[in-house]
Amino acid sequence: MRKTLIAGNWKMNTDRATAVALAKAVAEGAAEVEGVDLLVCPPAIYLSAVGEALAGSPVALGAQNMSPEDNGAFTGETSATMLGDVGAEYVILGHSERRTLFGETDLDVCKKTHKALAAGLAPIVCVGELLEEREAGKTAEVIKSQFEASLADISETQITSIVIAYEPVWAIGTGKVASPEQAEEVHADLRRLLTERYTAEIAESIRLLYGGSMKPGNAAELLAKPNVDGGLIGGAALKAEDFLGIAKAK
Ligand code: PGA
Repeated sequence: MRKTLIAGNWKMNTDRATAVALAKAVAEGAAEVEGVDLLVCPPAIYLSAVGEALAGSPVALGAQNMSPEDNGAFTGETSATMLGDVGAEYVILGHSERRTLFGETDLDVCKKTHKALAAGLAPIVCVGELLEEREAGKTAEVIKSQFEASLADISETQITSIVIAYEPVWAIGTGKVASPEQAEEVHADLRRLLTERYTAEIAESIRLLYGGSMKPGNAAELLAKPNVDGGLIGGAALKAEDFLGIAKAK
């Protein structure tokens, strides 16, 4: 009942020409991908150009971050309504690079999540433990506290528009992928947290993505796990062939 979602997080990569070319290649290849939703999240400055390149294709457009504020005097920021205005349907929030490099807290992520929902965007809220936390046996505790604080006061209706991404920080951009069992364990915990807070039916409808060094070669076994409903792909999303290869692995 949950449709697999393969999302590409391009991070601060590409230039205008390569972003458009990559989007076109993904859009063309999308015809060969069945039963999987595809999403690309280019740098904000290329959203419009990528949106035009995707026109008429089933590939959705998303952003990587946004301001928690409404339009106003916030120099250098991009609002949720602006993202929607240029065609974004999704926004990645609380990525570990935002949390560790830019000091984003769970409270910031929560504010952004509420603002994104109010603007009609689907937030992809990221959670994930550091290597020290995993080694100290604290993974479940960290995930629970991020889940609770990042998604505070999200109603039953709102949660159904949200995607949650589990991204173990030690697996991001490192080539060290979580084992399918490690991913499934955390995803099952997230499903349980959703069931406890909402209802089993709602929990069963929410997509939980895995992110961290996912590639065509390791995607099939991760996506075969019952609670892994897709992937948030960094490095491998920068080549259409690899990105589509992950989608085809489902
Ligand atoms: P990676 O990044 O696939 O390059 O590990 C994943 C992410 O940061 O979303």
